[in-house]
Order: sequence, then structure tokens, then C-alpha cells
Amino acid sequence: MNPLPFTACRRCGTCCDKGGPTFHVEDRMLIDAGLIPATNLVTLRKGERVNDAIRGCLISLETEMIKIKGRNRTWRCIYLDSTGPACLIYENRPLECRILKCWDTRDIEAVYARNRLIRKDLLSGIPALLDLIADHDQRCSHVVLRELLDSPSGGVDAIKAVQEMIAYDQSIRLLVVEKAGVTPDMLDFIFGRPLSETIRGRSMYAGLSESGNASRPGEKISERAIYETRTDPNSL
Ligand code: SF4
Repeated sequence: MNPLPFTACRRCGTCCDKGGPTFHVEDRMLIDAGLIPATNLVTLRKGERVNDAIRGCLISLETEMIKIKGRNRTWRCIYLDSTGPACLIYENRPLECRILKCWDTRDIEAVYARNRLIRKDLLSGIPALLDLIADHDQRCSHVVLRELLDSPSGGVDAIKAVQEMIAYDQSIRLLVVEKAGVTPDMLDFIFGRPLSETIRGRSMYAGLSESGNASRPGEKISERAIYETRTDPNSL
């Protein structure tokens, strides 16, 4: 690859447009001090499929990571002021933003997978919420979800299992908003992105037909079938 024809940040916003930074232990003070509120964070959970910008490919996360949210459900950093373009928190931008040099990625490569901040670090003072998160992680595991989605012979049992995971994911979000006073804009941080959102657009379920019924081995169904079969009173 040819080197880029510049050696200093031009503040063009291209990096910020592709996604906000992942938080590291060094950034904790920014959140603790309220300079970056938890309402502007999103957790990507273990097993979730994400685009790895450093390796340039899709990977399944081995551990969770916390990022700045994107704007309007895109990955464009919520703090990117596109009229500039400019960073709305430039003086308090996280570590990755401070060291990223798009013309020389060695610095970011050295820190990017190290000392990542996780929810447990930030919520240690609220053990009841951590218990709820642990339960949600277990019942709505991305690792299990992927195994179900990739199963060559999952059949109706697999589709029901996915439906149950999606239903639990939705119900626990509603519960903490209605009963615990959590604001909806905190949910992406507390429970990660909704499962229904993370599987959207995928073809899945070898062994099931478009209607969600078991069919010829290898035949695929779409995500639509999952939602269609949820209207079946016998399904959930
Ligand atoms: S925090 Fe600022 S510098 Fe970092 S990605 Fe967002 S807009 Fe860009």
C-alpha cells in the first residue's frame, strides 16, 4: 500500500465517520467525571460480530468492548460535528482518538486490544445491575446465538430458541425502564445492542424454509421467518 501523502491530522473527520473509539482503562476518568455520559456509550458483547478496522475483516469478539455510540444507529461518531467537521469533545477525546494517525497505524495497533474497559469496571458499585447483566449475557449470548444461526440442522427448535432469546432481550430492557427508572438511552450500554438489531439482514437457518418450517437440509430462511413465526400462538 502506498503511504498517505501527509504526516499530520487534517481533521477531515474520515476516521470519526467510520466509528467512534473503543474505551480503555485510561479513559475511565472521562466517564466517571461525566465528560462522556453513559447515555452516549454502546457495549459490543462477547461473541458479537464486528468489523475489525485494524485487521480489516469481520471477527467475533472474544471479550466485550465499550464504544462511543454512532449517530442515528450508524457508526458515525455521535461527537462528530459534520458542519466542521470537528470533534465536539476534542479536549477530552478518548485515548484511541488521541493516538490515531491514519497515515501510520503503529501506535493504535499497539494499544487497541489492550486494557479495554468493560461494564464491570464502571458498574462495580451497582451489584444488582451487574447480576442482571450477567444473567442477560448468559440468556442472550451472542456465542449461542451464532451457533443457532449457523446450525446446518437447527430446525424448529433452533428458531424457537432464537425467538426466546429475542423476547427475553426485549423484556429485560422494558423491565429496567419501567421498574428501575433506567432511561432508554442507557440500554445500549447496559445490555448492548438489541439482538433483533444485531441479526437484522442476515440469511440464516439452514434446514428451515421461508415459513419457518423444517424443510430440506441446506435450505435457508430469512430473518423475516423468525418474526413471522412469532405471531404463531404456539411459538412463544
Ligand atoms: S470522539 Fe471526537 S475524535 Fe473521537 S471519533 Fe468521535 S468525533 Fe472523532
